[in-house]
Amino acid sequence: MALFGRRITIAEAAAAIRAELGEGTGTPLAPELIDLSRLLRRLQAEPILVGGSAQPGLQEILDALPDAAGVLDGRGRISAGNAMLDALLGPGRSRGRTLLEATRSSELADATGLAIGGKFEKRELTLPAQGRLVLAMLAPLSGARAMLVLRDLTEQKRGESMRRDFIANASHELRTPVSAISGAVETLLGPGIPLDDSARGFIEMISRHADRLSRLTRDLLDLSRLESGEWKPELGPIELLPVCEAALGLVRERAEQKRLNLNCDAASTLRVVADRRAVEQILVNLLDNAVKFTPEGGRVTLLADDLGAQVLLAVIDTGPGIEPRHQQRIFERFYRADPGRSREAGGTGLGLAIVKHLAQAQGGEAGVESGAGGSRFWVKLRAAER
Ligand code: ADP
Repeated sequence: MALFGRRITIAEAAAAIRAELGEGTGTPLAPELIDLSRLLRRLQAEPILVGGSAQPGLQEILDALPDAAGVLDGRGRISAGNAMLDALLGPGRSRGRTLLEATRSSELADATGLAIGGKFEKRELTLPAQGRLVLAMLAPLSGARAMLVLRDLTEQKRGESMRRDFIANASHELRTPVSAISGAVETLLGPGIPLDDSARGFIEMISRHADRLSRLTRDLLDLSRLESGEWKPELGPIELLPVCEAALGLVRERAEQKRLNLNCDAASTLRVVADRRAVEQILVNLLDNAVKFTPEGGRVTLLADDLGAQVLLAVIDTGPGIEPRHQQRIFERFYRADPGRSREAGGTGLGLAIVKHLAQAQGGEAGVESGAGGSRFWVKLRAAER
């Protein structure tokens, strides 16, 4: 092999190994970790000269990593580590100890056992002894050893939580003045107050914008509660048909105004393990979009189907469809395929993000298939036992 007998850089070695093994991606672990574990295996098996020394350059490799990293022996003891590992685990805590001794995390100890046994492991967990939140990645090595990489996520999570708190507080604070504006506008537009046409036009504009602001603050508050885990679903077996009917009832009037054909195709026997209000919210958001984006005279169908362990709920429309490049992103906050049109239709850009979070909080998933003939938004929820 061309690499033998000359100084090589870590990047060269990793690239050469990747090329030689001819293996692609598709693995759940970070590619750099896979490369390094392969490299370590080879360094163990063959005396590649790294840095001109016959000693495999294990320490050099560990030091080159951007995260805390180390090697665990067959008994799960830390046999080598970089400076970041020492800094993370604390002085005197790393070398010669097991991860359970060093971190008091039984979850990390379990993952180590699995990695030594030959399984790649990747978990987000807290290290009780250090009070840090980490992404732990473990890769099996030859000789019943494992490579450990700990990525410290504590600051990142703290930043995210501060951002969420700020959004929740700001939306909460905005609610009171927005309701005051809406109340005053309603009074002005009510009977008994003479208004000329232009004044009425302006006040109606204020009313529309106050409604939008109120929907925005409500959706932002809901989303931050969902993301922070403050809102927890009350899961239990529920019948789907009444929930579907309630959601359809809320959009029926607007569908009729647009002369849309609104249908429901759900068997009365279908039951899911879910939170009733959350399922209704999901359906209202999806139906609301379908009614909003489907042109006059089109069709909107709410479908519920038995998939065995799961139940499929889908809202199918004959609207304009969504271009493939937008499909993955429309579940993100404030992402809109057509921002002008969404705002004009009174959208907040948060409806689908709420759908995705609500589905996931109930152990389900959400997605979309869309083309020129229309869109099919779906949610899969756990089926209740029959
Ligand atoms: P919005 O308040 O803008 O509807 P959503 O999060 O509910 O926010 O939806 C995000 C974007 O996804 C919309 O702005 C629109 O571009 C697209 N979208 C959602 N539902 C549909 C649909 N049924 N047909 C076409 N586009 C849709």
